[in-house]
Amino acid sequence: ELSANNPILADLTPEQADAVQHMEGPLLILAGAGSGKTRVITRRVAHLLQQGVKPYNVLAITFTNKAAQEMRQRIDTLLPGNRVWISTFHSFGARIMRQYAEHFDLDKNFTIYDMDDRLKVIKIAMDAVTVPGVEKFTPDRIGNAISRAKNQLLTPDAFYRQENDFLGQIASHVYAIYQKKLKEANAVDFDDLLFMPALALQTNEDFRNTLDARFKYILIDEYQDTNQAQYIMARFLSKASQNICVVGDPDQSIYKWRGSDIRNILDFERDFPKAKVITLDRNYRSTKSILHAASTLISRNKNRKKKGLITDNPEGEAVKVLTFDSGLDEADQIARQIKDKVASEKASYRDFAIFVRMNALTRTIESAFIKNGIPYQIVKGLAFFERKENKDILAYLRLLVNPQDNISFLRAVNEPARGIGKVSLEHLSGFAEQHQIGLLRAAANVEKVPNIKGKAAKGLKEFAQLMHVLREHIEDKPHEVIQLVLEQSGYRAMLKDSRDPEDEERLANVEELITAAMQFYNEDGERTITDFLEQITLASDVDGWDEKQDHVSVMTLHASKGLEFPIVYILAVEEGILPHERSLQKDEDIEEERRLAYVGMTRAMRELFLCNSKVREFRGQSLYAIPSSFLGELPEEVQRQDLSISSQRMASYSGFGTKAPFDWNKAAFTSSSAKVSPSPVQVGDTLSEELRPGTIVQHEGYGIGQILDVNGFGALRKVKIRFATQGDKTFVADKVKLKIVN
Ligand code: ATP
Ligand code: MG
Repeated sequence: ELSANNPILADLTPEQADAVQHMEGPLLILAGAGSGKTRVITRRVAHLLQQGVKPYNVLAITFTNKAAQEMRQRIDTLLPGNRVWISTFHSFGARIMRQYAEHFDLDKNFTIYDMDDRLKVIKIAMDAVTVPGVEKFTPDRIGNAISRAKNQLLTPDAFYRQENDFLGQIASHVYAIYQKKLKEANAVDFDDLLFMPALALQTNEDFRNTLDARFKYILIDEYQDTNQAQYIMARFLSKASQNICVVGDPDQSIYKWRGSDIRNILDFERDFPKAKVITLDRNYRSTKSILHAASTLISRNKNRKKKGLITDNPEGEAVKVLTFDSGLDEADQIARQIKDKVASEKASYRDFAIFVRMNALTRTIESAFIKNGIPYQIVKGLAFFERKENKDILAYLRLLVNPQDNISFLRAVNEPARGIGKVSLEHLSGFAEQHQIGLLRAAANVEKVPNIKGKAAKGLKEFAQLMHVLREHIEDKPHEVIQLVLEQSGYRAMLKDSRDPEDEERLANVEELITAAMQFYNEDGERTITDFLEQITLASDVDGWDEKQDHVSVMTLHASKGLEFPIVYILAVEEGILPHERSLQKDEDIEEERRLAYVGMTRAMRELFLCNSKVREFRGQSLYAIPSSFLGELPEEVQRQDLSISSQRMASYSGFGTKAPFDWNKAAFTSSSAKVSPSPVQVGDTLSEELRPGTIVQHEGYGIGQILDVNGFGALRKVKIRFATQGDKTFVADKVKLKIVN
């Protein structure tokens, strides 16, 4: 092959081309950030096809659905018309389970329960379990224990035998009932999508052989973040045909809290002794400054394989540490910087990304963007589908697809109200339990249920009939099904006839659901309502992100994985936030936080800003913040770049209160000690009069804010305040207790 003439091999380094052209046998690509790992996977898929491998025999696994979609498009550009199976582990699991439903003792229309549904079933199971002590634990804790068991491929029995602590014992009992309830509802949870196929592959040789023969070539991106179940899937799918190619960077393993195990990648050569190992040591993404800063930070991790990463990219701008007076300032100044850069045509909005350690930290920057008219997108789940009205409609759809789905039944049955009370539903549940049938079927036979009479009986019967009629249309196009549900269920009429002004917006939202389904269908005419539901349930934060829009992207560090942006700001690089306070006790946890910081930093192509603030408004409190110990681990030239940005506004209002301005230098914190957590701040003095726009104040409940407006006199005097995390609020000036922040 002449690489110059082959677009698949063009613009690859010799090492990358080597990896792409490797055909048979296990392959491990261990390489640093931005070295072309994902590019290699993409090209390798295309190359395999070019060499005559059937698309049907190739399976490529990505970390997010979005990454899968992108890879699909790239491959389609290189070799049009190939439908290779590219998906996340979870989507792969779901598809396998539908295709081979009989192996899993499920009906192929099973529902995938999300975290909310799962919690409901856990609660039901906890109520049903008879072991003493169950009430000592929250459903969350029990749920986590069950999730852990599934990730380790333990059935309830195996879990019971293995666990010797109290929580584990209790959880294993709940686990057994929980699985039974899921089974009754023909439903599975997220963990099952990995757990069940992995267990089946491990224990059913016929099944394993079938899939192994089918997926002759397996490629896995971000392998450093696989958990035990995913690991088993990967291994058992490539036992006969050992054409497994995994790529990853141990320094970017950031999902230990979800069960990821870095050993999976480190032990690959042990698992596949014939593995060819290729390292890529050239970064194509970032400037020298950025790469140097990130590499210096990560080199502090003790538990890691050393690896050098170099780049031919220019030195570029220095990485900068920005220190602000408050989180409000941080947000304001960043917004202004972005605005200025866009105005001077040095960048577009889409070039910017803002990363945060936790979603809660996005509020302030969001307000600042709104105030400055900056287009932005918070990359966080598919919030649209989380709205109550949309969840209601989705419950109808799920019940249509899977009539045994009891959780969806309970959600849909009284929306709109059908006069069915809690007691009637309890009787219905009892009847269903007794006859081993789903709630919908019980409702269809409501005349046989003792104790349900009158309005409730009528309502249940009508609901069952409605679902029966709607079910005839289940094969219709997804958007048409939704249209029908809205109409026939009375849901649209309920919103339309309502006097509640918010119902107008709810109506618009459910109509928008139709549009979403239509777009989904238009992308691929074979998609059904089941596919639509599955896509929504399996979406991760970044899947809702629309990178084509010209806006600033705001997301968590976790969501930023695999992406790249010309200019990156990481907010609140402060002790207790990054590294997270939960990690401060254990070195291995701190190391994971350092990897998280490393992931964030290595997303940046041209410019990188690490921000921190002296006061952080967070969780309803204002705290003196300590700069992150990670900042002290950066190269000296970066630390010298530390720019204290004191805002004009703060300066001009200082001294306005009655106390002397706070002296930061006297603050009794040592930034080197990781164990100190910030304590609540006491600022300024109580204030009763003289309120002016611009003043920074602190409110007991809402935290730090800035006065926007004051008007009226005496008892009618009102003050409007914009809070860092809580938005704008108006108070009666005489009644509200505020402190001025100097
Ligand atoms: P991460 O560790 O963040 O997942 P990665 O190793 O997967 O990164 P890619 O995302 O594949 O790296 O590549 C990083 C950037 O470098 C991309 O913009 C990619 O197009 C570019 N790139 C990769 N290889 C080359 C190359 N040989 N020549 C030019 N650009 C390249
Ligand atoms: Mg990648």
